[in-house]
Amino acid sequence: MSEKIAIYPGSFDPPTNGHLDILARALNLFDHIIIAVTESEHKKSLFTVEERVKMLHTVTSGMQHVTVDSFKGLLVRYVKEKKASAIIRGLRAISDFEYEFQMALMNRHLGLKETASIETVYLMPSENFTYLSSSLVKEVVRLGGDIDSFVPESIAIELKKKLKYA
Ligand code: ADP
Repeated sequence: MSEKIAIYPGSFDPPTNGHLDILARALNLFDHIIIAVTESEHKKSLFTVEERVKMLHTVTSGMQHVTVDSFKGLLVRYVKEKKASAIIRGLRAISDFEYEFQMALMNRHLGLKETASIETVYLMPSENFTYLSSSLVKEVVRLGGDIDSFVPESIAIELKKKLKYA
């Protein structure tokens, strides 16, 4: 049987413990996960794609069956290029649902012309991370709050440096 590969796409601006929670769950279901940082031109990010890839490398170092990459353009095209069969997304509160539902159906439509189907798999994080997002973490650092339980130490250091709170 061939290896089951899934793509975990996202902004990861920056990666949080919520992202890592979803990654750990995905690793229980698939043989290999490719974390793919999206190079979106219209979504303003704090960290560059290279910085986000580097941070993800640091927080996943020592983990087996995980690679970090970045991509531009259509996700379904990237998924096919990597010979993956699934897209991993995290589902937090109900507020994620509408957008995610739209995206999953659009990706299914776009993926229809492909030989094998691509499924989007939604995973729920531990309830501690249900209300956690990269934007919230950035906001808390800007306001001088403590983010130690929400991001790995290396990310907290990078964030404080970037936002000049070091
Ligand atoms: P995007 O801009 O693609 O939504 P994010 O980095 O914000 O990029 O999120 C990437 C994926 O990780 C999304 O599916 C999002 O729902 C999920 N995610 C982000 N934070 C959490 C969290 N705290 N718990 C569970 N899933 C999360």
